[in-house]
Amino acid sequence: MYRKLTATHVFNGHRILEGDPVLITDNTGRIIELVDAGTAGDDIECLTGLLTPGFINAHCHLELSHMKNAIQPQTGLVEFVQQVIQKRESPEERKQECMRLAEEEMYRNGIVAVGDICNTADSLIVKQNSSLHWHNFIEITGFIGSVADKRIEQATQLQSRFREVLPGQPVTLSPHAPYSVSSRLFQGINDRTAGQLVTIHNQESIAENALYLDKTGDFLSLYNNLGIDISSFQPTGRSSFQSWVPHFTQEQSIISVHNTFTSPEDIFHCKSNLQPSPFNINFCLCPNANLYIENTLPPLDLLRENDVSIILGTDSFASNHQLDILEEIRIILNQTGGSVKLEEALQWATLNGAKALRFDDRLGSFEKGKTPGIVLIDSIENGTITDRSRARRVL
Ligand SMILES: [Zn+2]
Repeated sequence: MYRKLTATHVFNGHRILEGDPVLITDNTGRIIELVDAGTAGDDIECLTGLLTPGFINAHCHLELSHMKNAIQPQTGLVEFVQQVIQKRESPEERKQECMRLAEEEMYRNGIVAVGDICNTADSLIVKQNSSLHWHNFIEITGFIGSVADKRIEQATQLQSRFREVLPGQPVTLSPHAPYSVSSRLFQGINDRTAGQLVTIHNQESIAENALYLDKTGDFLSLYNNLGIDISSFQPTGRSSFQSWVPHFTQEQSIISVHNTFTSPEDIFHCKSNLQPSPFNINFCLCPNANLYIENTLPPLDLLRENDVSIILGTDSFASNHQLDILEEIRIILNQTGGSVKLEEALQWATLNGAKALRFDDRLGSFEKGKTPGIVLIDSIENGTITDRSRARRVL
């Protein structure tokens, strides 16, 4: 049983196609081929809007889904982090229900795969019953060198649990952020992730650079408030990005998340100094979360001029009102005054994300044999989205 689908516009993972393309799939959504309407025969379903492969949400924290509206917007990152620590506890039943609803919301909004940050085993049940693809990142924190071995041991145990319960889902260790991981802990993570995919929250606030440049800025008060003595931390005199990247020496692929305060010098450093060349780093943008927490946006022009790999994420309900990649695209298109076109943002949301999460053998584009999910964006005008546009799953 085949399905033949076409729409006003068809984006195939690379570009919005000219002509009258028809997508032929089997009834599981596996792509048979993409042909011209002239050779597609009868029974073509014509939809109004734009067809795209399913979206990749490269950065989420499913286990924080119960924190929707719990934290006031625009407090700045240091206050945000403290509030997450204070408010993340909740009855088990509520947490499970909120995660279930969040997973359903992502499915409905056309998301087919998620790079998900895990500090706990809370999300195992929802993921066991999910039709989305998941890459689980076991997140590790510890800014004091002496706790590194213990934190690695705990994270490795959690990783084994994920492997046991979710044998089909990749799971790798990852550092939380430069301001919460000691050199020794970075070293331990590097030792255990050769050739693997890791992720890190990078330069989400200006304070992170200040910490590494000369040990000043708001993170000093965070550690003071948490009662953590960071007197042994030595600033490197370089930006945060230039300080953590060299910790990864084993051909890892890296998803660097946020990058709100990444500078031209950081990108230059990344492109010119690192091995293997080209260094495999993907810049994941979560613009709605950046607006929510810091009321700022990442340097899109800088990243685009340097032709780095850009991908998109929603972050969690702690810092976003919805888990919807189309809303991330909308912010980008609205805030860049037309310099980013829908086609480019869709590339970030589909094939780039699939490659970064290593799911591009089955997701990200309408290529023969893939089952990428088929999503329709409605209310398209003049080739782009409008305020009324929504994404929904067709297959
Ligand atoms: Zn995050």
